[in-house]
Amino acid sequence: MTFDYDDQNIFAKILRGEIPNRTVFENDHALAFEDISPQAPVHVLIIPKGAYMSLDHFAAEASAEEQAGFMKAVAEVCRISGVDDGFRAIANTRAHGVQDVPHFHMHILGGKRLGRMLP
Ligand code: 5GP
Repeated sequence: MTFDYDDQNIFAKILRGEIPNRTVFENDHALAFEDISPQAPVHVLIIPKGAYMSLDHFAAEASAEEQAGFMKAVAEVCRISGVDDGFRAIANTRAHGVQDVPHFHMHILGGKRLGRMLP
């Protein structure tokens, strides 16, 4: 599998500061911000700062340091958002996963009991 990254995607523009965002947390390797169209009381997107188009791209090619930085951002977002009663993490991936923005992002959804997604 080869991964082609399009640096004109919306999240690349957010990382470059070309589009504003409501930042929840940031470290050297990741940025977390509120989803513009929240689907739950807590709906935060966490993205790596590197040019990775999908979860499998990030898992295959990001360095251990980048991956650790991303996971630390996940932990901080969960702490800051107060999702102590649980949450859902989603990474829609490419066409079959109905991924709209081709820069890897993890959705963190919570703040209420969510409906079941899987049968
Ligand atoms: P996907 O379908 O790719 O997994 O999800 C993309 C998400 O990005 C959607 O939930 C959508 O609401 C969010 N989104 C799209 N454009 C923007 C934007 O410009 N700013 C923010 N904060 N979120 C966006």
